[in-house]
Amino acid sequence: MKVLKFGGSSVANATRMSAALDIVEAAGAEDCVVLVSSAVSGCTDALIGIGNRAAAGDESYREAIRGLRERHARIVDRLFSGTPRGRVQATLDAAFLELETLSDGIFRSRALAPGQAEAIQTFGEIFSTRILSAKLSCEGNRVCWLDARELFVRGDEAQTLRRIRAEMRRHRSAHYFVVPGFIARDAQGRVCTLGRGGSDYSAALLAAATGASECQIWTDVPGVMTSNPKVVSAAVTIPQLSYESAFCMAEHGAKVLYAPTVAPAQAAGIPIIIRNTFDPAHPGTRIERIAPRQVTEWVGVSNMRCGENERITLTVEGPVDVEAAFRRAEAALRDAGIAAVASAQEPGCITLDVRPGVSREACCAIHREFFEVARLNVVETYVAGRGAVGTELQKLVRKGLATGNGREVQIRGISSSHDFAARVLKTAPRHAVFVDCTDSEDIYRYFVPMLEKGINIVSSNRRSFAVPYVEYAAIRQAALRNGCFVRYNTTVGTALPVLESIVGGANCDGLVSIEAVVSCTLNHIITGYDGANTESFATLLRKAQQVGLTEQDPRLDLGGKDALRKLLILAREAGVPLEEEDVQITPMLPPEFFDCPLDEFYARLEASEPDFIRREAELDAMGRRQRFVASLRRDPAARHGYRAEIRMQLVGIESPFYWISGTENVMIIRSEAQTPLVIKGAGEGARQAAAGVLNDILK
Ligand code: ADP
Ligand code: ASP
Ligand code: MG
Repeated sequence: MKVLKFGGSSVANATRMSAALDIVEAAGAEDCVVLVSSAVSGCTDALIGIGNRAAAGDESYREAIRGLRERHARIVDRLFSGTPRGRVQATLDAAFLELETLSDGIFRSRALAPGQAEAIQTFGEIFSTRILSAKLSCEGNRVCWLDARELFVRGDEAQTLRRIRAEMRRHRSAHYFVVPGFIARDAQGRVCTLGRGGSDYSAALLAAATGASECQIWTDVPGVMTSNPKVVSAAVTIPQLSYESAFCMAEHGAKVLYAPTVAPAQAAGIPIIIRNTFDPAHPGTRIERIAPRQVTEWVGVSNMRCGENERITLTVEGPVDVEAAFRRAEAALRDAGIAAVASAQEPGCITLDVRPGVSREACCAIHREFFEVARLNVVETYVAGRGAVGTELQKLVRKGLATGNGREVQIRGISSSHDFAARVLKTAPRHAVFVDCTDSEDIYRYFVPMLEKGINIVSSNRRSFAVPYVEYAAIRQAALRNGCFVRYNTTVGTALPVLESIVGGANCDGLVSIEAVVSCTLNHIITGYDGANTESFATLLRKAQQVGLTEQDPRLDLGGKDALRKLLILAREAGVPLEEEDVQITPMLPPEFFDCPLDEFYARLEASEPDFIRREAELDAMGRRQRFVASLRRDPAARHGYRAEIRMQLVGIESPFYWISGTENVMIIRSEAQTPLVIKGAGEGARQAAAGVLNDILK
C-alpha cells in the first residue's frame, strides 16, 4: 500500500487533477493506493470567508458560493462527458446544497454557532475528492471513496487508526481509496478540521493505519528545501531529512509539511516523501530515520510570525557549538544591517527574532551565511608576507589565474609589516581569507581569534602548524566551530597533493608508515653532489645558501629542523598527535660541525671533503645512495603507537627515493588497506607554493 497526498495547487484545476491522477495511476500499477486530497487551491480560504460574511449579515456570501460552484463545474466539464458528467455533477450539487443550507442558517442567526466555523471549511475536500474519485473509476479502476468524517477522530489517533482499518477491510476489493484530507470529527461528534494544512496529517494517519510502505506528499515545490523558495531564491532541496529535523522545520514555519504529520509516520517507521507535481521526475525529499550525525550539519532556515516579531529558525543536526552558531548568525544579520531582538536555543535548532519588516532580508542573510558561502563569487584575501611566495601570488592574481569554480580571488591587502595580522583581525570582513605567506614563528596566535570572527586561513608557513599539538588542535577546532576553513596544503610537498591525500583518511586506514624525502635544500645538495665529479660539498652548500635555498645558517636545514616540521604536520594530518620531542633526529653531520661559528663550519666542511669523496665512491660501488628521510612507522612500543625518526638512510635502486633529482620530493604512504601510495614531484619553488596557496583559497 502507498499513500499519495496532493495539496491544493496540485489539484487546482482540470489539468492539475489529470496530472495528479497520472501520478496516482503510475503508483497504482505496482501497489494499492490511498489518494488523499486537499481542496482546490484557495477553496478553504473562500469557505472561511463565506462563513464570516454570512455571520456578519453580508449577503455576498451567496456570490462567493456561486463562484466556487462554477469553478468546480468547469473542472467537471473538462474532465467528464455524458452520463458520468451528470453523475458527478449531481454528487457535487448535493454537497453544495448542504453548504448553502449551512450558510443560510448562519446568515439567519447572524452568528457562527459552536463548530460551524470549522464545519463550513470542510466542504472543499469533499468537492475535490468526489471529482477525483469519479474520474479514477471512469477510467475503469476499482475505487472506493471513504468519508473522512466517519474515520478521523480529532485528538484520538488510536481510535482513528482502528476505524480506518475496519473501514478498509470492509472494502478490501478496492484498488484505490480516495479520502478527503483535513476533515475529522471532534470528541462531541461534530464535523471539524485537523487544522490548516491538515491534509498532510490525514495522509500520515492513513499510512500508519495501513502499514503503507511510503507516505508521499505531492506539492508545488521539489521537496523540503533549505528555506522557503518564495522567500530565499537560493534555497535548494534537502534530499534526505530526519523525522526530527523535518518536525523542527515544520514547527517553525516550513509550511511545506504540517508538523503533526511527522509523529504517526515516525512511530510506524514509514518514510514521508515530499515531491513536486510540477516536476514528477524530481526525487524530492525523503524524511526517514537517520543515524545521529557525528558532525554539525546545518539543515534549513525557516521563518514564522511569533507575537510581534518574526522568528527565524536555523535547524541543525549533530553536535552544535551554540555560542559559535549565534555569533555567526548575529554577525550575518549585522552585515545585513539587522539586529536580532531576541535569540534562543531549542532542541535541534537555534532561533533569532527580528522585526517583521526585515524578516525576508534576515532569512536571506542567515541562509547565505550557512548554506551559500561556499558559493561566494568574490573571495577577498589579505596576504601577510611580501616575500617570494606572496609576490608570486600577487603575480598569479594579476595574470587572471585566480579564478576557479566561477569564483575570483581579490587581494585586498598585502604586507610584510608586523602588525598586519592584528589589523586584519580588526578590520577584515567575515568570509575573507587571511593568507599567511610569512615564515613567522608566532603569527599563528592570530588564527583562533580570526576564525572566531569568521575569517578563513590559508597558510604556506609550516611553522604555524608545527606548534605544540594542543595549539594545532585548537586551530582546527576553531575552524570547525565557526564554519570556516584552515588550509595549509603547501606546508608539505608544496603544490604536491600530499596532505589532502592523507586527510581524507582513506589512504591512512590502518596506517603502517609514512616515509618522506621532503627537505628540498638537502635534496638539492645531496642529489647534486657526486664526489670527485662535482664541486665540493661545502661549495655546493654555500651556493645554495647564496641563492636563498637554505636558511641564513644552512645548518638549520642540515640539522633536520625543517624536515621535523613537515613530519609533525604529516603525522597530525594522519591522526597521530605527534610532538617535537617524539621525533628522533640524527643530523647529517656530527656535533662538531654545529657548535662553531659559520665560517669555521665551512672550513671544517671543506677539510672533510676527502671523507665525503671516499664515502660517495663507496656508495657508488654498492649501488646505493644517501637520502635524508623523515619517517613515521607503526610501533606499539612508541608513545602514540608510531615511531618518528629523521635520519640519513641508504637506499638502493628498488626504492622510490633512489631516483630523485634537484628539489624533488617523494612521499610513500603504506597502509594495510592497499598497495603503497607514492607521491613524487616538484617540491620547491615560490611559484609552486603560490599556485598551491591559490588552490587552497579557491578549493
Ligand atoms: P500544499 O497545498 O501542497 O499542501 P503548501 O502551500 O501547504 O502546499 O506548502 C508548500 C509551500 O510551502 C511551498 O509553496 C513553499 O512556499 C512553502 N515552504 C515554506 N518553507 C518551505 C521549505 N523549507 N521548503 C519548501 N517549501 C517551503
Ligand atoms: N485545505 C486545507 C487548508 O487549506 C487543508 C490542506 O490543504 O492541507 O488548510
Ligand atoms: Mg500544505
